[in-house]
Amino acid sequence: MRVDIISLFPEFVAQCAAFGVVGRAQERGLLSIHGWNPRDFAEGNYRRVDDRPFGGGPGMVMLIDPLRAAIDAARTADPAPARVVYLSPQGRALNQARVRALAGQSRIILLCGRYEGVDERLLAAEVDEELSIGDYVLSGGELAAAVVVDAVARLQDGVLNDADSAVQDSFEGDGLLDCPHYTRPVEHSLGTVPEVLLSGNHAEIARWRRRQALLRTRERRPDLLAAAGLSAEEARWLEA
Ligand code: SAM
Repeated sequence: MRVDIISLFPEFVAQCAAFGVVGRAQERGLLSIHGWNPRDFAEGNYRRVDDRPFGGGPGMVMLIDPLRAAIDAARTADPAPARVVYLSPQGRALNQARVRALAGQSRIILLCGRYEGVDERLLAAEVDEELSIGDYVLSGGELAAAVVVDAVARLQDGVLNDADSAVQDSFEGDGLLDCPHYTRPVEHSLGTVPEVLLSGNHAEIARWRRRQALLRTRERRPDLLAAAGLSAEEARWLEA
């Protein structure tokens, strides 16, 4: 998968993607990240990328032309069609289903705003979708872009050593939260590992995990339960 970052600080996103699973994905050639700085496409001695908002008010607005030239350069660098995503607090909320859909694209272009945001005409002309990483306001889109890159990269074939681990994560499958996990030692001053996990009985372990995932989802995110197809036994677990 190819990801192009349009940003005044493209190195920031690249740095965030340099570690762990996502870093390894790049080393293995499963993900490539390319940064494009609109300032490199700006004109004049000051290479201006922003200006005051029409109508007055605080802050600055990112100019159309340097951003458009950066997007054009990214598109030209690879002829495969790219979906342009603007990271914005006003966008659709990012979730695992959206991450899966984006991960299925061969390339995406992530547009990061700064200041008060981007001239609306550029968004209308160039952007396919707007995505928000939560109901709060960041100073720039780079952290949000890094979140998208991380989440889509780990879903690329061959990135995770065990492909099953992504399938068992929270929000996958029927959308429940993941079950709790334990590792060595069995006995610790903080507690003991549940016995069933040591039993070697795979059916019982799977049942226990499913039950824990359901109970945990009921406790922390009851809104997710509605979409999960529950068996009669599972429904009883939740009544208890
Ligand atoms: N004036 C804008 C508003 O209230 O909708 C906020 C602009 S914000 C200070 C600057 C940039 O940060 C935005 O253009 C966007 O790219 C990014 N940003 C801020 N919060 C975000 C969020 N929750 N999700 C994704 N991107 C965000």
